[in-house]
Amino acid sequence: MARTRCSDPVVGAILASWRYDISGISPEMRRDYEQHFVECSHCRARLKFHRGLDVSLAVLTSLAVIFFLFALATILHIKPLEHVAFNILGLDIVSMYQMLVSAGIAGVCFSFIAFLLVLTATPLPTYLTGIAARRSKLIEEHLPETVRSPRSR
Ligand SMILES: [Zn+2]
Repeated sequence: MARTRCSDPVVGAILASWRYDISGISPEMRRDYEQHFVECSHCRARLKFHRGLDVSLAVLTSLAVIFFLFALATILHIKPLEHVAFNILGLDIVSMYQMLVSAGIAGVCFSFIAFLLVLTATPLPTYLTGIAARRSKLIEEHLPETVRSPRSR
C-alpha cells in the first residue's frame, strides 16, 4: 500500500479505531467523516482495503460451507474412499465412513458459524446493501420512463 499521510490525524485515528466503518453512527455525525473520506485519499484507500477484506472473508467462509457440503454429498453418494480405506489403510469401512461424515458435518457447522461471525462482526451487510441500492438506482436511471417504478420519479 502506498505511503500516504492522513490530512487530519485525529479524525484518521478515530476512523482507524473503527476499522473505517461509520455505518453505526448517527447521520449527523457521519457527515463529517464522509467529508473526510472525500478529502483524504489515505483514509479512502484504507476504507476500500478494509471493506475488501470483509468481502474476502465472507467469500472464503461461504466457499468453505459450499465445499464441505460438496464433500458430504460426495461421501454420502459416491463413496470413493472405500478402496483406499479397505485395501491401503486397512480400516474398517464403517468407521472410516463415520469419521469422514463427522468431519464433513463439523466442517459445515464450523464454516457456517465463521460466515455468520463475519456477517455480524463486520459492516458487510450495510456495505453490500449500499452497493445494491446504488446499482439499482443506476439501472433505473437507464430504463425508459414507462418502465420505471413510481418511487424513482
Ligand atoms: Zn484521513
